[in-house]
Amino acid sequence: MTHGFATRAIHVGQEFDPTTGAIIPPIYQTSTFVQDGIGGLRGGYEYGRGGNPTRTSLETLLASLEGGVSALSFASGLAAEDALLRAVLRPGDHVVLGNDVYGGTHRLINRIHGAWEVRNTTVDLADLDAVRSALAVDGTRVLWIETPSNPLMKISDLAALVELGHAVGALVVVDNTFASPALQQPLSFGADVVVHSTTKYLGGHSDVIGGALVFADAELAEKAQFIQFAAGAVSSPMDAWLTVRGIKTLAVRMQRHTSNAQAIAEALVGRPGIDAVYYPGLPDHPGHALAAAQMSGFGGMLSVALSGGAAAARRFAESTEVFQLAESLGGVESLIGYPSEMTHASVRGTELEVPDNVIRLSVGIEDVADLLADVEQALTR
Ligand SMILES: *Cc1c(COP(=O)(O)O)cnc(C)c1O
Repeated sequence: MTHGFATRAIHVGQEFDPTTGAIIPPIYQTSTFVQDGIGGLRGGYEYGRGGNPTRTSLETLLASLEGGVSALSFASGLAAEDALLRAVLRPGDHVVLGNDVYGGTHRLINRIHGAWEVRNTTVDLADLDAVRSALAVDGTRVLWIETPSNPLMKISDLAALVELGHAVGALVVVDNTFASPALQQPLSFGADVVVHSTTKYLGGHSDVIGGALVFADAELAEKAQFIQFAAGAVSSPMDAWLTVRGIKTLAVRMQRHTSNAQAIAEALVGRPGIDAVYYPGLPDHPGHALAAAQMSGFGGMLSVALSGGAAAARRFAESTEVFQLAESLGGVESLIGYPSEMTHASVRGTELEVPDNVIRLSVGIEDVADLLADVEQALTR
């Protein structure tokens, strides 16, 4: 019998050390592995770029949590994305991606892979007719989905998009960073690959940069593993270990992130000075019903549009005290960001530009009363 999510998050790939009984598997801080005669490998390990037991333990864990056949752990989310794209794309191929994907993903596809003649089209993923016509472009190989999206928390219909992507033979990739597998498991909707920045909720403590790919299919996994081995953007043993440590509490953290974010969203909605609150847990959010159907919680991210424009948004972002002004998200500590000049600076002037009156909150797991009081005092400023 397979165990539940929270049990697997703590135990899969985490067998105690058989030689000492240490309950926590050691960090295999080693670059190479001694051979019993030429080619006599113990446990298949040869050289650290090709594999390391600490990395294996994280990869085994991630595959279980996303319901995949296998996973690969990388030095960053973007390194994971790059390895996947290189495994599947050739010059002339075409990628369809949401018009509000993570700015770094767009930059990678548009500028790095674009230089190798990979073409892309950005499209509103909520508009299925627009997606269908973008997918009809000759040479479409990949449909890239991010839901909830960043920073406006748009929800895309995973099952419908998977069907459209597969109808043209495209690989369907879902960046599941915002939801984490605790709240959403895209492979169960038929997606082919899940991408993570494990820097965010999976690591959960803002102390490690990492990324991962989780595969529904062994053949593609093998191609990506070859890129990982040949190009070398692997995660270090220490980073893999920290990420495993973070994942053990993922289930409870996501519950608290969600309840704190819901409370803040409800407190802010309809307030003078606030034009809009973007949080899928609010009943009038356009993706509310869809999120309720395909996620098991609404998550810890929300954005707010201020009626006082850029000046008000900047002032708000610089006025919170518990919410610290910083890039990134998904840690136990609350963060506030100003997307148009921080996370989304790389897409200014493009269709992906974020309005300059929007601030983004990564709601942490502190006491909700302190978070509410902090937002209140920042609003009155
Ligand atoms: C941060 C992030 C990435 C990139 O991951 P890094 O670990 O910073 O390379 C990709 N997608 C989303 C949704 C992110 O938030």
